[in-house]
Amino acid sequence: MFEALMIRRADGVVTTRLEQVGPDALPEGDVTVQVSHSSLNYKDALAMTRGAPVVRRFPMVPGIDLAGRVVQSHDPVYQPGDQVIATGWGLGESHWGGLAGMARLPGRWLLPRPGGLSARQAMGIGTAGFTAMLCVMALEDGGLTPASGPIIVNGAGGGVGGMAIMLLAQLGYEVVAVTGRPQLHAYLTSLGAAEILPRDTLSPTGKALETARWAGGIDVVGNDALATMCASVMHGGTVAACGLAGGMNLPLTVAPFILRNVRLQGIDSVMCPRPRRMAAWARLARDLDPTRLDSMLHDAPLADAIGIAPRILAGHIRGRTVITVA
Ligand code: NDP
Repeated sequence: MFEALMIRRADGVVTTRLEQVGPDALPEGDVTVQVSHSSLNYKDALAMTRGAPVVRRFPMVPGIDLAGRVVQSHDPVYQPGDQVIATGWGLGESHWGGLAGMARLPGRWLLPRPGGLSARQAMGIGTAGFTAMLCVMALEDGGLTPASGPIIVNGAGGGVGGMAIMLLAQLGYEVVAVTGRPQLHAYLTSLGAAEILPRDTLSPTGKALETARWAGGIDVVGNDALATMCASVMHGGTVAACGLAGGMNLPLTVAPFILRNVRLQGIDSVMCPRPRRMAAWARLARDLDPTRLDSMLHDAPLADAIGIAPRILAGHIRGRTVITVA
């Protein structure tokens, strides 16, 4: 038996509890992993508190990230004892995820744990850090370099935002962080932000184009913030859009695209193809400063995850929460 967070729905009411589960209940898959660490992402918090639309079938073990040790494998690539990680692919949404002592999943969803990273560090990075790296790669695909000019990153106090600041600063970019929490000033500076601006920097003014201030941007908020970001990047700039912490809408005109040649690149970490995944994780393992990474992390046991979830949605958690499963 092992402990698992379990999301159930009965009569339209969603509940999440810690349960004892037997291995026979695990879903189909060719590799069984003893999970040592997972993490809490915004999506996990949504799943645990609201169920739909993140959870697509019940009962569901949440957790879009996992790290652990292979205990049984019918995939020739993996042997018992191998250290592995997995993020996305439907974990915690349509397939039981990482917030449990054991997981069973298709071997093609796994990656060997990148060299040099502990399981705790890998989950500290998790989907948030992986997504931040995909955003940085999107800016690079758009032709941006540190010489292009400053990059704006919002949701700076959260997981993706903090990871993006850290990665960009390490690559030599001038990073402008946007946060709704002025009390995080010292923390954001320590991650590498050169300038820290309040959230209303990205409030709409009603103009189709704003003063061009940034070479590029990474947006985790969506809605007005993303629209204003697109309207205020310089000619030829790129914006990577990955989140919806501020809503799903996008109240935008075509002006930034047809008058400034702005590129808006969507980022999906869940179905990211394996070669790009491996490239992103190799860069994360190589480029992230372990001391700065550590300053973003706090640890919690599995049982505490339920209480932390609403605080994530309220925007009260700083950085990344690593869940110690075993
Ligand atoms: P976190 O909760 O860690 O961070 C989100 C941050 O956004 C908060 O800390 C806060 O930062 C800011 N924020 C929260 N609510 C609002 C609001 N109403 N208006 C403006 N800013 C707000 O979440 P994650 O970093 O894990 O995820 C961020 C977003 O990215 C989520 O929407 C998530 O679903 C999405 N995401 C998408 C992925 C993909 O594959 N496309 C993968 C991973 C995440 P501050 O207080 O500093 O302003």
